[in-house]
Amino acid sequence: MKIMKFGGTSVGKPERMHQVAALVTAEKESKIVVLSALSGTTNALIEISHQLSIGYKVVAKQKIDELEKYYKQFVATLVTTENAVSKAQQVIAEHFEFLNVILKISYSDALNKDILAQGELLSTKLFCVYLKEKGIPHTFLSALDFMCIDENEEPKLERINRRLSSALKNYPAETLFVTQGYICRNARDEVDNLKRGGSDYTASLLASVLNASVCEIWTDIDGMHNNDPRVVDKTKPIEILSFEEAAELAYFGAKILHPTCIWPAQQNNVPVKLLNTMQPQAAGTVIQKEAGSVGVKAIAAKDGIIAIKIKSSRMLLAYGFLRKTFEVFEKYRTSIDMVTTSEVAVAVTVDNDAHIKEISEELEQFGSIEIEREQTIISIVGNEISKTPDVLQTLFNSIQSIPVTMVNYGGSPHNISLLIPSAYKKETLQLLNKGLFKL
Ligand code: ADP
Ligand code: ASP
Ligand code: MG
Repeated sequence: MKIMKFGGTSVGKPERMHQVAALVTAEKESKIVVLSALSGTTNALIEISHQLSIGYKVVAKQKIDELEKYYKQFVATLVTTENAVSKAQQVIAEHFEFLNVILKISYSDALNKDILAQGELLSTKLFCVYLKEKGIPHTFLSALDFMCIDENEEPKLERINRRLSSALKNYPAETLFVTQGYICRNARDEVDNLKRGGSDYTASLLASVLNASVCEIWTDIDGMHNNDPRVVDKTKPIEILSFEEAAELAYFGAKILHPTCIWPAQQNNVPVKLLNTMQPQAAGTVIQKEAGSVGVKAIAAKDGIIAIKIKSSRMLLAYGFLRKTFEVFEKYRTSIDMVTTSEVAVAVTVDNDAHIKEISEELEQFGSIEIEREQTIISIVGNEISKTPDVLQTLFNSIQSIPVTMVNYGGSPHNISLLIPSAYKKETLQLLNKGLFKL
């Protein structure tokens, strides 16, 4: 069994959906196809939900109608036979009827999640209408029947495994299953989701519980590149990454992968392949146990970082100080990305500003607090980079003009992280591309 996940752009045009059907039927191996919403849909649903949340029902209605029009045009090219056209129209009618009904219901967080789930439900159902039209045997599985998270928003692996396995047992001869990425049920059994970009996470979770032969992530680029192609002109795909390297890159901003989607596949040693739907013959990137080669492989950037500095002369030689500091962050469920210490100060970074006020108030008992916003973490990732000669020298030589505010080195042999003001991100990524990759 293998998992094939297709992202928003891979299903975002009728002809791309046709291509996805060709790709998933090209090989005999049984597979679960995980689809995202058509590109742009989740953003549109977020906007509709936002307008509803602030009471702008007229604007929400206008946006619902625009989206419905878009879907009607989409299916007009997706399918051709009378039967398939009518089925596709029924799917659209069902989901847009729901969106129109919610205009009359009072807004809640649960309703917001229901709204966001419509994108993946639409894409998978429309894809199945197309498969049926083409006479391609398949089974539709509702992710809401097996994907679930607990009260801490962590996936319930055992339950996912149990429910999915029992669903699959109902179709022993089936070789092609289609299901939704991103959506799930929460601890209250309500519809919920795995956060933006979460379809990758769905795919990796399914690959892990089923011990799949491979987890293929099909997207709009030929693998993980050595630098962010949205910011830097000359980038190149990486052939092999270890699970650790890929996890660091995903967590530190490489948008091609959801930040936490590597660990499930890693847990069961299922290789993850990043492939290009528009260029299926390209080698892409394989993410596996072994790193392949030593040295710097890629750079990623994570924006929206807040640096917090705690200065205290009382801290000198005071054991237990770090524990007390970290307990404040734990209390407010705010995770720390970078940490550096000196004898009289500790600096940390966080990416979540929900409780910064409470955290800084509590930290004031330990010393003076300085907060800097609009920071970016630049992560240089590779296998055993700390053992690679001259990396630090080349790195700092190439960014002499950048005001680096923090450095993390040595915690992981695969990562060097720098904190810089976000205004310098583009320049830093470009300079590092030249300095470290000679591109
Ligand atoms: P999908 O809709 O298929 O999930 P995403 O938009 O989430 O696709 O991810 C693919 C995009 O990630 C690429 O188009 C690219 O712009 C962006 N990206 C950011 N960093 C990287 C990187 N290091 N390598 C490849 N793509 C990257
Ligand atoms: N459709 C969701 C999003 O846009 C999930 C995904 O595409 O992975 O975030
Ligand atoms: Mg994505």
